[in-house]
Amino acid sequence: MRLLLVEDDAMIGESVRLGLRRGGFTLDWVRDGRAAELALANDVYDLMLLDLGLPKKDGLEVLKNLRRQGNRMPVLILTARDSVGDRITGLDSGADDYLVKPFDLDELSARIRALMRRQAGRAETLMQCGDVTLNPATREATLGGRELALSAREFAVLAALLDRPGAVLSREQLEEKIYGWDEEVESNAVEVYVHGLRKKLGADFIKNIRGVGYMVPRR
Ligand code: CA
Repeated sequence: MRLLLVEDDAMIGESVRLGLRRGGFTLDWVRDGRAAELALANDVYDLMLLDLGLPKKDGLEVLKNLRRQGNRMPVLILTARDSVGDRITGLDSGADDYLVKPFDLDELSARIRALMRRQAGRAETLMQCGDVTLNPATREATLGGRELALSAREFAVLAALLDRPGAVLSREQLEEKIYGWDEEVESNAVEVYVHGLRKKLGADFIKNIRGVGYMVPRR
C-alpha cells in the first residue's frame, strides 16, 4: 500500500514516515503543496495524508483541486487546526477523515486501514481469499488456519493482489505499491516475491497473465 505524506513539519513528518514504514506501508514524503500536486500527477497512491498549513499551496487547495479532477483517493487530514470549523471545512472539501495533532501513530495506522477497507468496499478487517487470510493490522498471514511466514515485501505484494481479487496488476503497479522514491527497486523483485509466494501458497494461487501482470482469482 503506497501513501503520500504531505507535511512541512520535519519532526512530525519523520516520525510518521518511520512509524508507518515500520508498519509495512510504502510512503513518499513531500513538504509543500506544489510538491504534493507534482507527486500526485506523476505517481499512483492509495491514500494521502495531508497537512493543511503548508508552504507554497495550502492543503485545502490541494484537496479541492484533487477532487475537482475527479480523483477519489482517500484523504486523511493531519492538522493542528483543531477548531471545529476547520475540521468541517476539510471534510466538506473532500477529505474522508482527519486527525488533530498531536496524534497517536497506532491510531493513524488504524484509520488508514479503515479508509483502505472502505475504498476496497470491504467491511471485514481481514483480507481473505480461499484458505489464505491476511490481517493488515497485525501483519499476520495464515493458510488453512496455520500461520504463514511471509517477508514484509511478500506480504505487501499479496495484500495488493488480495485487495482486488480478479484484477490484474502489472509488475510496475506492484513495484509502485512496495517501493517508495528513496528505495532502490531490485531487478526482478516482483518475480522473486511472486515466486516465493507461490512456493508457500501453491503454484496456482497467483496467476501470471503473460505480458500483462499478476492476479489472484476470486475463490
Ligand atoms: Ca504545517
